Parts: sequence; structure tokens; C-alpha cells
Amino acid sequence: MPIKHLKLPEGGTKISIHNKQQLVVPDNPILGYIEGDGIGPDIMTACLRIWDAAVKKAYDGQRQIHWAELFMGEKAAEKYEGAIFPEETREALQELVVSIKGPLTTPVGGGFRSLNVTLRQVLDLYACVRPVRYYSGVPSPLRYPEQVDVIIFRENTEDVYAGIEYQSGSPEMRKVERFLKEEMGATFFEDSGIGIKPISPFGSKRLVRKAIQYAIDNKRKSVTLVHKGNIMKFTEGAFRNWGYEVAREEFGEQTITEEELYSQYEGKQPEGKIVIKDRIADIMFQLMLLRPSEFDVIATTNLNGDYLSDAIAAEVGGMGIAPGANMSDHVAVFEATHGTAPKYANLDKVNPGSLLFSGVNMLEYIGWQEAADLITTAYPEVLSKKIVTYDFARQMENATEVSTSGFADVLIQQLEG
Ligand code: NAP
Repeated sequence: MPIKHLKLPEGGTKISIHNKQQLVVPDNPILGYIEGDGIGPDIMTACLRIWDAAVKKAYDGQRQIHWAELFMGEKAAEKYEGAIFPEETREALQELVVSIKGPLTTPVGGGFRSLNVTLRQVLDLYACVRPVRYYSGVPSPLRYPEQVDVIIFRENTEDVYAGIEYQSGSPEMRKVERFLKEEMGATFFEDSGIGIKPISPFGSKRLVRKAIQYAIDNKRKSVTLVHKGNIMKFTEGAFRNWGYEVAREEFGEQTITEEELYSQYEGKQPEGKIVIKDRIADIMFQLMLLRPSEFDVIATTNLNGDYLSDAIAAEVGGMGIAPGANMSDHVAVFEATHGTAPKYANLDKVNPGSLLFSGVNMLEYIGWQEAADLITTAYPEVLSKKIVTYDFARQMENATEVSTSGFADVLIQQLEG
């Protein structure tokens, strides 16, 4: 008999998917939340209060989220006899369609694979979506951080993250080495650890398709395919080629290439057309510092996306406020992008911003834009008063440092007017 701890809240209704295409969101949706480990409970408690207050204010009590707590990580292990990702959590994430999670601990080396990677693979959450924009008042290392406004779509399931790796000296590695050297004529040093980088047309195309569809739905100007195809032609280069193929074959009416922009439109972007361009990954890091306003939606492979997301987040104030989500076609798990910061666990100290804005994106995803807007409007107003958590306080002069819950109190007061 499987262990059961999940209770769906009474009075709530599940989100459904109409015709395999569209989310149907009732006024009383049940959304899942996973507290997470370390600082997770502190930030989740604060954010649940803020999201609820925003929804209440925006819809005058006509709409309300009914939260279902789901268990993963250390809290799950306590309840489910050591299981850190119980089956009923997996089922609920799928069934509830939209959920949000705090950070989860991943022990370094040995033990189990990253819980986050497992989650993405088990639910086939193939797109990691990271919107990065600037909120006035947030300390940033850039002179013009307001020029940064991008959405990164990072492929989440393949590349060197596929987990196909063979340890130096192991029998498996020897077997792969023999095959590569003897049958394929490859040359590399003896005893090399070997990792495999699979990149498929299926995986690349569905990611780029999602990015282009997002650009269309949100009236964005361009989609940039970021790759390292000059070196890795059949993986990274192929990603780029498949990306252009999707644009041409499936969105021919709505997109033009950068080359066409200059050859056919004299560099003037025609109304209603999204420009598809590509950049090599290394130059992209430079361009995002030097000319960030040239970029809008970014679609990239797994490892590039991992590096790029954190680097771009740093430009607008860092991981403390960068939101994220992992998505399949419909199922979405929104998440804080930073880790569990164990040294600050239960101190009511850290910045809730990353989880908070992940929740704002979640409200937008379910179509509750008014509630999302209340938070994005109130947030810079609180920051303009220099009321911040410790991480921002140390980068600002004359700031008033508040706790996680204290920040939530001030923000709620602000958005309630
Ligand atoms: P981390 O937990 O992100 O913490 C690194 C540092 O970032 C903290 O010491 C703190 O900096 C700052 N920081 C993180 N969150 C913050 C917040 N909300 N507000 C203010 N500052 C914040 O990274 P880590 O120490 O490398 O990883 C710890 C654990 O988290 C590991 O087990 C790792 O695997 C896991 N992890 C989980 C996820 C996830 O669940 N998505 C992601 C990354 C890491 P200062 O010390 O300078 O104040």
C-alpha cells in the first residue's frame, strides 16, 4: 500500500487542458507548492502570503488559489520513509498542471542524481524558462540595467546533462574507448572520463517551437538561437539549423531571418514579423553585457543555457531575484533559481525575490495578469524606499534591512494601497 500524505484542498478545482491545447483555469484553482529545503520554508511562507494578498486585492475575493502542499526533498524523506521524490508527488505535479517549488538540496558526488534534473526528466519538462528583466532600485553592476529584458528558453532534457557518462578506468569507459578508437578512429588521452552529448532534432525543435510561440503570443521582436556550432557542428550546429527549420516550416508567416531583414527589408523590421537570428555562445556573453537591448527571446542548448541564465541574471541583481520555470507543453513547475543556501536556513533572512517573481510568472501563465501586475508595480516602490533584505542592503547606502517575512509585510502593505 503506497504511503499517502497528499490532501487536495476542499473548495478548489483542478486546472484542465482543453483539446490538448489550452489551459482552462477556474476561479478557484488548486495549485501545488513544494516548500523546498534550507531557506525554502522561509521564502515559501512569505511568498504564499504575498501571492494570496495580490489575488485577493486584484479580484476582490472573486478568485482564490487553493494551495496543495506536495512533498519533495528532505521533507518528503521524513514523511515517506526516505523517499525524496514520492510517486504521489510526481502524479500530483502532472495532475494539477501548475505548481511552484522552493530549492532542493543536491549532495555533491555519489548519492542520488540532482532532484531538479530528475524532476525535469521524469515529467519531461523540456524547457527551462528564465525571464530576466530589471526592477528599478535593485542594485546592479551595469550602467544601464534597464536595457536587459530577455526570456531565456534553455533545453532541459538532453546535451551533456543526459547523464551518459563513463568514469575514468571503469569497464564501461574502456568499452566505449575501444569502440571510439578502434572502430571510429577517434584519438584522445588514455583513461579519459567520457561524457556523451546527444542533441536531437525532436528535442531542439520542440524547444525552439516553444520559444517562437512565446515570442508571437507576447509580441516580442526577435528569437536568438545561441549555440557553439563553430566547434560542435553536429550537436550545437545542428541545434541552430533545426531552429531555423522550425521557424521556416512552422512559422513562415510570422518570422523572417536576420539575413532577410537586411536583404529584403533594408534593416527595418516589418510589423508583425519576428526576426530569427543566431549567435555563437561565447560572443553572446559579451553582447549581453555590451548591447543587451538587441536581444529579446533566447533559445539555447542545455549547458549554454545553464551558464547564460546565471550570467544574465547577475546583470540585473543576481540570483536572489531571478525567477524560473520548467515546462512541458502544458505542465509547468515554477521555481526559485537559487539553491537552498543552508547557512541561512530558518533565519528568516534571505531575499524572497526569486521565488516571488517565479510566482508572478505563474500568475501570468494562468492568465491572472492583474494580480501579477500588482506585485510588479508594488515591488520597485518598496525598493525605492530602500527597504530590502540583507543581500541588497550590503550593496546599498542607507538601506533599511528587513527579514524575509518583514519584506513580505511591507510589500503586502504597498500592494494593498
Ligand atoms: P545557493 O544555495 O544558491 O547559495 C549560494 C549563495 O547565494 C548564498 O550563500 C547567498 O550568498 C546567495 N543566495 C542564494 N539564495 C539567496 C537568496 N534567496 N537571497 C539572498 N542570497 C541568496 O548555492 P549553493 O550554496 O551552491 O547550493 C546549496 C544547495 O542548493 C546545494 O545542495 C545545491 O545543489 C542546491 N541547489 C539547488 C537548486 C534548485 O533547487 N533549483 C539550485 C542551485 C543549487 P551570500 O552567502 O553571499 O549571502
